[in-house]
Amino acid sequence: MLMKQSPLSENISYNTSQTQLEEAAAIIKLDPAAFELLRHPLRELHITIAVKMDNGSTKIFQGFRVQHNDARGPNKGGIRFHPDETIDTIRALASWMTWKTAVMDLPLGGGKGGIICNPKAMSTGELERLSRAYIRQLGSFLGPEKDIPAPDVYTTPQIMGWIADEYSIMQGKNSFGVITGKPLALGGSAGRGDATARGGIYCVRDAAETLGLNPAGERAAIQGYGNAGSFAHKLALELLGMKVIAVSDSKGCIYNPDGFLYDALMEHKKTTGSVSGFPESAAISDKELLELDVTVLFPAALDSVITETNAPDIRAKIIAELANGPTTPEADSILYNKGVYIIPDLLCNAGGVTVSYFEMVQNSYGYFWEEEQVQQRLEKKMKTAFMEVQQTSQTYKVHNRLAAYIVAVKRVAEAMKLRGWY
Ligand code: NAD
Repeated sequence: MLMKQSPLSENISYNTSQTQLEEAAAIIKLDPAAFELLRHPLRELHITIAVKMDNGSTKIFQGFRVQHNDARGPNKGGIRFHPDETIDTIRALASWMTWKTAVMDLPLGGGKGGIICNPKAMSTGELERLSRAYIRQLGSFLGPEKDIPAPDVYTTPQIMGWIADEYSIMQGKNSFGVITGKPLALGGSAGRGDATARGGIYCVRDAAETLGLNPAGERAAIQGYGNAGSFAHKLALELLGMKVIAVSDSKGCIYNPDGFLYDALMEHKKTTGSVSGFPESAAISDKELLELDVTVLFPAALDSVITETNAPDIRAKIIAELANGPTTPEADSILYNKGVYIIPDLLCNAGGVTVSYFEMVQNSYGYFWEEEQVQQRLEKKMKTAFMEVQQTSQTYKVHNRLAAYIVAVKRVAEAMKLRGWY
C-alpha cells in the first residue's frame, strides 16, 4: 500500500508532479521501492557560473542540471534561461521528461536544466559566454550517451550551437550529438523547429475525431507566442483550418473574433518584440484569454497557469497542453468533471523530444532525413502514443493525464525491474 506523501516543497509544479505520480502508482499498485526511486531524481548538479559582462563587471549566475531517471536510456530534456527558475521546477520538469519519453516509447530517460538569468536583458556576447560556461561546468555530466539537452524556454538553436561547439572543444573532436535543437548547418534535424506544435496539432486532430468534431473553422486561443505557440498558430491554420482568435506573450494578450493571419502577426512580433499592439486587435487580460469560448485552448507558455481558481470558468472543449505542467491536479479534476478533453503535456508537446530523438539518430548515423520523412515518422509516433493513452484511459476509466502516467510509469518500472534496481 502506497502512503500519501506530504508535499516536499512549496513549489506548485513540483507538488503537481509528485501528486500525479502518486495517483498513477496507486492505480497500478506500483512496488513501493520503485515508487520511492521514481519520486526523486537519480542525480542533480548545482553550478555557479562567473560571466564577464560587456561593461567589464563579472556577474555570478546559478544553474542546475537534474537527471531524473535513465532506466530506459540516456537522460533527455531542455535547458531553460529564466529569471524565476528554481531547482524544484527543474526537478518536476525532469520527471515529466522521463514520463514523456516513456509515453512516446523512445529509448531515453528524463532530464532538465536551467540557469537563473534574464536573457532579454543580456547582449548576444553575454549569452554566448553564459552558455559556454554552463557546458564547461557540466561537461563530464553530459554527453550523447549520458544526457542530451535541448532548447526550452528562452533558449534557441543558436545557444544549442554554442554549446555543441564548446563541448566539441572540450572533447577534442566534433561531438554535436551532445545536444539537440541545433541549427541545420550544425547537425540539426529538418522539422525540429515546428515539431512540438506539429505533434500537438496531430493530437488535436485525433482528439477532435474522438469527440466527433470537425476542427475546420473552429476557434482557438494560444497563451504564449514563442516557439511552441507561434508554430501552433501556423499549423492550426494550415493543417486544421482553424481560426486563432486570441494570442498572448509576456507583454500582453490580443483578441480578434475574425482570427489572426500567421505571417502578419509573426512580422509584427519580429518588428516590435511582442504580439501586443497588432493592428485590428483588442487588448484583453490573460484571464480573459484562458476563459474564452473556444474549441481549443493551447497553453504554450509557463507551468501552473490553469488552477482551481480559473478552471471553473474555462470554456474550451479541448485543452492542448503545449506547455509543460500548465494544469494543476485540482484543476484537472474540475475540468474532467466538466467534460473538457485535456491532451496532457506528456503527450501533446512530445513532438519536440521525438524529433530531438530523430536528430540524435541522424547525428549518430551521420545521415540526414528529408523534412517530409521526419514529419511522417513524427505523425506515426504521435498517433501510436495517442491511441495508447486513449485506450488506457478507457481500460482504467481515468482521465487522459492519468492514463499517460500509467503508460509511462509502467514502462519505466519495467525497465528498472529488468535492470535489477528493485
Ligand atoms: P519560448 O521561449 O520560445 O516562448 C515562450 C513564450 O511564452 C514567449 O512568447 C513568452 O513571451 C511567453 N510568455 C512568457 N510568460 C508569459 C505569460 N505570463 N503569459 C503569456 N505568455 C508568456 O518557449 P517555448 O519553447 O515555446 O516553450 C513554451 C512552453 O512549451 C514551455 O512550457 C516549454 O517547456 C514547453 N515545451 C517546449 C518545447 C519546445 O520544443 N520548444 C517542447 C516541449 C515543451
